[in-house]
Amino acid sequence: MSAAPFLPFTRPSVDERTIAEVGDVLRSGWLTTGPKCQALEAALSERFGGRPVRLANSGTATLELGLRLCGIGPGDEVITTPMSWVATANVVLAVGAKPVFVDAEPVTRNIDLDRIEQAITPRTRALIPVDLAGLPVDRDRLDALATKHRLRVVEDAAQSFGAQWNGRAIGSFGDLVSFSFHPNKNLTTGEGGCLVLNNAEEARRFELLRLQGVARLAGGELEVEAWGAKANMTDIAAAIGLGQLRTIDEATARRGELARRYFELWDDALGFDLPPQDLENNGNWHMFQPLLPRDLAGRRADFMEGMKARGIGVGVHYPAMHLFSMFRAMGHAPGDFPVAEDIGRRTVTLPLFPAMDDVDVDRVCGAVAEVVAELRGAK
Ligand SMILES: *Cc1c(COP(=O)(O)O)cnc(C)c1O
Repeated sequence: MSAAPFLPFTRPSVDERTIAEVGDVLRSGWLTTGPKCQALEAALSERFGGRPVRLANSGTATLELGLRLCGIGPGDEVITTPMSWVATANVVLAVGAKPVFVDAEPVTRNIDLDRIEQAITPRTRALIPVDLAGLPVDRDRLDALATKHRLRVVEDAAQSFGAQWNGRAIGSFGDLVSFSFHPNKNLTTGEGGCLVLNNAEEARRFELLRLQGVARLAGGELEVEAWGAKANMTDIAAAIGLGQLRTIDEATARRGELARRYFELWDDALGFDLPPQDLENNGNWHMFQPLLPRDLAGRRADFMEGMKARGIGVGVHYPAMHLFSMFRAMGHAPGDFPVAEDIGRRTVTLPLFPAMDDVDVDRVCGAVAEVVAELRGAK
């Protein structure tokens, strides 16, 4: 139907200089964890106000190892949101603890801070807040809750690299902060992640957890102190990350411009619920996610099909997690978290990535109007 090239909902931007630097690593003879990983950890630490940062091979690994670092395991409960990628709850299950969901809040679509206290029990050990689409959870209220109830916080900031809370970079404060460098995220290493830690002792323990528990003693002797995963990052991946760091601030600004264009061009009469405009400029516009009009709530597949026919990719991030069969088998059912369920049924992720042109936004908005008219006409 469309002669224009296919527009995906996201696409990483890796520049030629970075590609050349990856080539240098491949020619160097040292591919796994080495000087590039050290340089990336140092650069990230500088970005986060000098806090220790350690890399791993995914954001899932940094979350799971963060929970292990906090000593969370069987018998413990961890509070999080059902409006996230399943990794957020899978890591709780991985350490043998129980994920306890708290419904989302309809405006930000993040965990409803007003409902957290009701979910706290004597077994609750930690909170995992998720910054959906890169819009930060209110860190002042979150940290106050954690302090009051003596809970650890493992921030799932997978989507919020480059975002801020009241002028402070996400990652530069708080307890443990986990980022993902998956290719869909704002900063990528191919696959990877990092954890921001509180002090050198935590960083040392994280190093053991991410690589077989192996410590190197003076004189080069090896010692295994404790169980550890195999979750180290390669220097190939770290070289991509170092290249991405050079352009991340520009890329984040560009995302903001594209989001602004969506708001300007959007036809409110169509009946979508748009994401909050983030007037305090806290978010990083990781995704642009309108919720389908209520009369089209059951027709998301048709909407996506119509957009695809016009050469435009649409994602779904995410169906409410507790409705997946694994969580239903654990006792969850429709109606448990109505706000997340409503978002999960209606959310669509439209194209937004730094290499997009302004006219791509125009094209998406035009296609949305056409598809909606088509669906309403053919009901
Ligand atoms: C991407 C993502 C993760 C997992 O990150 P990986 O690097 O893919 O393991 C976890 N939580 C959220 C909210 C994410 O978006």
